[in-house]
Amino acid sequence: MLLSLENHNAQEAQLVSKAKEWAEQLRPHLLHKVRRVTLYLDHNPKKLEYPMALTTLNAQQWRDIMSPVLQVCLPRSGVCRNFPRLVVFAPVDYQGLGVPHPFGKQVYKHLEMILRHMSGGTKTGAYMDANLQAHQLETGTSFGLLQQDYQNTSILASDTWLKRVWKELESLDMYMAFDSPALSLRCHHDALLIDLFMDLEVDQDDLLWLNWCRMFLQVATVSDITTADGRYIRQCIWNGFRDDTYWTPYNWPQTVRPGRPYWELWQRTLSRALLPSHGQHHPLLQPLGHWHDHFESWNWLWSPTVGLFQGCMDPSCSGPPQNTVRVRVGTAAVQLLPRAGTARIVIRCQTPGLPQDQSAHRGELIGLLAGIMAVDWLLQQWFPALSQRPGVKIACDGLSAIEMAFEDRPLSPTDAQFDLISSIREAISRSLVSWSPRHVYGHLDKSNLFDELTWWEKKNLEVDGMAVDFRKELEAAHQLIPPNPRFFTELAALFVADTKQSRLSDHFIQECVTLPRLRQQWRNRNVISEESENLIDWETLGRAMRSLPAGLQRWITKHWVGMCGTGKFKVYWGLESSAACPRCGEFEDHLHVPRCPAASARDEWDRRVTALSLWMDIHLTSPAIKHAILLLLQGVRDSSRPTSRLISRTIRPAFLAQEAIGCQGLLEGRLASLWLSLQQNYFDEIHSRRSVSLWASRLSQQLISIGFYMWEQRNAVQHSDDNVQLRERHCVVNEGIHSQFDMGSADLPPDIRRMLTCRHSVLRKSLVDKEEWLKLL
Ligand SMILES: [Zn+2]
Repeated sequence: MLLSLENHNAQEAQLVSKAKEWAEQLRPHLLHKVRRVTLYLDHNPKKLEYPMALTTLNAQQWRDIMSPVLQVCLPRSGVCRNFPRLVVFAPVDYQGLGVPHPFGKQVYKHLEMILRHMSGGTKTGAYMDANLQAHQLETGTSFGLLQQDYQNTSILASDTWLKRVWKELESLDMYMAFDSPALSLRCHHDALLIDLFMDLEVDQDDLLWLNWCRMFLQVATVSDITTADGRYIRQCIWNGFRDDTYWTPYNWPQTVRPGRPYWELWQRTLSRALLPSHGQHHPLLQPLGHWHDHFESWNWLWSPTVGLFQGCMDPSCSGPPQNTVRVRVGTAAVQLLPRAGTARIVIRCQTPGLPQDQSAHRGELIGLLAGIMAVDWLLQQWFPALSQRPGVKIACDGLSAIEMAFEDRPLSPTDAQFDLISSIREAISRSLVSWSPRHVYGHLDKSNLFDELTWWEKKNLEVDGMAVDFRKELEAAHQLIPPNPRFFTELAALFVADTKQSRLSDHFIQECVTLPRLRQQWRNRNVISEESENLIDWETLGRAMRSLPAGLQRWITKHWVGMCGTGKFKVYWGLESSAACPRCGEFEDHLHVPRCPAASARDEWDRRVTALSLWMDIHLTSPAIKHAILLLLQGVRDSSRPTSRLISRTIRPAFLAQEAIGCQGLLEGRLASLWLSLQQNYFDEIHSRRSVSLWASRLSQQLISIGFYMWEQRNAVQHSDDNVQLRERHCVVNEGIHSQFDMGSADLPPDIRRMLTCRHSVLRKSLVDKEEWLKLL
């Protein structure tokens, strides 16, 4: 599985043919239109999905594979078959069609597999770990493969599944952190050879050859190539011959000896990196210092008392370096109490993580982790050689935190607080203590008398109080958001843009894959500028979009892109010869629909704006906000810039932010985030306990529906006689009828003459009948 994956093109071709086959099977089932394009695509063909854990195709290759499927599904759900793919794959929260990007699914599967196996300590995890270490030996660097810069060292790594995943993650600004045992430096002034070569900025081809020479010689550091006194480069290494008696802690792969020109390059580069300009025996410019490695790594030892050389060939592996415990400050508190003593240790922790990760559950978990780590540290410091495992009772008022930490429930990387729970479980498995967890009921102080509480309940109340006090201290010091570093016992951690994730989220990975290209589209079409992107409340928009009926969801996506059934596109698609608006006859694109100057459009607009105003009253919108929103909405049909002079000073920043987002943005439901705090203040003022986020999401939906009703009104006109084109056709046909009657019926055959008896009855016919009548004549 993790070996080189040759024949990648064949895999892609096979997947394309499977996708085509699937699209063909689907075609007869799509006789009826479906409202949601994802209805079919949610259930990706399993033949495409099963191999995803192993495939390492790029985003373009996956788009090509999905192309035949989309060509069939999109038109059936009322979307143009050539609709921009980056919007098709964009999340619904960002006004995309929300078809899951298969590349995103592939990345998700890779991450899920690595996290699950590496943190679960499975056999596959051990195999992956061995592969990562083999890669590390191969690249000769101090970091694990997935933590290295792909540009610098990828040339040194063999083409395996892991290398391709590494490239894929690098393209998305993600990396995985593991405990890779570092290649050991054995003495003072020692260094990794590859680091030295890279410092010399040798080019990538030379680096590849130098690495080959190093792999053949089975050496990684300067100490590996020097004499025991650390003063000279050994002659055999200099000449490119492996010293098979030399002890090495690693299992090196078989390597063919490079040819003579590469050994000349090897000598030249070593000279540049380590040697002074002259010296026959290759003395180092900076001799190595004191050796600090284990005796086991030496073939021969000399005893100063006995004066003998002693053979010593017993390599034994040492464990990973121990980290020192550092207790973080935070809003959970832990007390460590001896059974009978009066002394205690109090640990106060600030819950690490992004604002969206914060919860009471996470607070309880960080408290448990801190307690376990502190006890183990104390034990290691004071009683490192205890013969029996001491027992420690640990209690917490979060039942699910206790259960997740101490019970053997299966844990998935997608579970909430995966990073903390997996770290706690690893800490427990490494612990020298036998733990007895228990649940204690919390928050009993309100209903019970303090004296009636048990000892555990009283202690729990004490730590609750400490946590609250600490939170107040942090709030006063404005230390609200702590960093979320990798925990000491976290076996595998996912970082996105240098931020550690508390869990693996399918949605988030899809966003990482699709948003960069969607942003490009926003900029290219002047829909959302970089400035306004930061002003928009995306959470509100996401909530509004998810609440919309499927048809309206799809409608707004088509209409912000502008690829919808307006005159402009009907001409483009060859359905009509004129791009004229059915209401006013002007050129019609998606921006014209709410701006049409026809009287019927104006009436509809006024009706909808009045309805919005009423809605805002019913939903207790601040009068100042209502005034500002209506003023901005006026800007849709009245291009003169709305003035902020009449806006009060408290509302003005939000007004200006919304103005930067634009009135079309407002009509498409994109609200500035500043409105929410203002409306919250208003709710507080009138003692209303309504949810401001719900208010904002509904307001956004109301705005989107104004645009939709303008479109519906336009369609109603198009299919009525009020339509501009129909009106013109009526005039032409009526003129034709009049001129036929004016010419008289003399000299005409009798059956034709009968058709020219009553002018009024002909004029009363429908348009189609009148056109037929003229054709017969
Ligand atoms: Zn018009």
